[in-house]
Amino acid sequence: MDAGLKRELEAKVYAGERLTRSDGIALYESDDLTWLGRLAHHRRTELNGERVMFNVNRHLNLTNVCSASCAYCSFQRKPGEKDAYTMRIEEAVRKAKEMEDEQLTELHIVNGLHPTLPWRYYPKVLRELKAALPNVKLKCFTATEVQWFEKISGLSADEILDELMDAGLESLTGGGAEIFDWEVRQHIVDHACHWEDWSRIHALAHAKGMKTPATMLYGHIEEPRHRVDHVLRLRELQDETGGFAVFIPLRYQHDFVDSADGKIRNRIQARTTMASPAESLKTFAVSRLLFDNVPHVKNFWVMHGLSVAQLSLNFGVDDLDGSVVEYKITHDADSYGTPNTMHRDDLLNLIWDAGFQPVERDTRYNVVREYDRAPALASRRAEPQQVWA
Ligand code: SF4
Repeated sequence: MDAGLKRELEAKVYAGERLTRSDGIALYESDDLTWLGRLAHHRRTELNGERVMFNVNRHLNLTNVCSASCAYCSFQRKPGEKDAYTMRIEEAVRKAKEMEDEQLTELHIVNGLHPTLPWRYYPKVLRELKAALPNVKLKCFTATEVQWFEKISGLSADEILDELMDAGLESLTGGGAEIFDWEVRQHIVDHACHWEDWSRIHALAHAKGMKTPATMLYGHIEEPRHRVDHVLRLRELQDETGGFAVFIPLRYQHDFVDSADGKIRNRIQARTTMASPAESLKTFAVSRLLFDNVPHVKNFWVMHGLSVAQLSLNFGVDDLDGSVVEYKITHDADSYGTPNTMHRDDLLNLIWDAGFQPVERDTRYNVVREYDRAPALASRRAEPQQVWA
């Protein structure tokens, strides 16, 4: 990038001016990671100071049986496959109750698009979970699943959301977004929920008072211009609804041979590489700068590793998810040694060691507890610090 354009972009960021599509593409073309981090950190600090939010949550997948076969997915199984499973309602409640330690505040539930499970199962599970764990907020279902519920129930998304909210739904999840541009989407997504339906369902949820997350799966066959397009679509919708609480760039994961059946399920693996840590930091930074009207940018550390999670706090990220147990949708694919469990104390140390102030939040980003600011790193050099993988 030439020095003139660099100065121009920097001036826009410091003046709080909205960045354009070509600005976003130019930022991705820059190899000056320190400069990108400085710009994103300026914006992040303006919005969120030195705070890093986290929540204490657990992930639950009711079924891995799915009618679709998305090219990047290592989670889905077909009916009758050896390790296909579907939880009975009492089993889901028992599993959730087992996870009820550490003052859990949120259950995050996403599932395959089960071909024969009736619609009634889903609100019933929510009602039973809410009865068993009344203080836990239920963040459940992607827009893709809601569109699937429309298909299997004959109801509209409006009626479906009303019933799910009545059963205890607090928020949708942000999944199913992947990359919206059809040029890429047609090669990776195998279900019928694309931008038109995804945005319709989130806008409807926002109109009903929900705050929802939005995700982006990057680092596969897309190019930076597709990431820019993805964020700008969301930014435009956010201008209309104001309902997105957080943006979550998710790093596409390679699959490895499944020890259960010797299969590799990821069909785009042969022609892809995974995004490097530098590319991930750049993606966080550019996302923070472009998506100027979303309050938070989250690092779902399971997909990035803990060291990159710490670094990303200087590249626009102000939210870490979470204290995950049994994350399966992509973690089945991970053989890099990233843990899939972190407890509250682990998260606090992770944030403190990176030099930030931890704030525990709930599903709607209300503050649950503020922690002290970290002592300056210089004064802590003598202390042993955790070395993260
Ligand atoms: S990503 Fe979701 S919809 Fe696609 S195959 Fe996997 S479980 Fe099914």
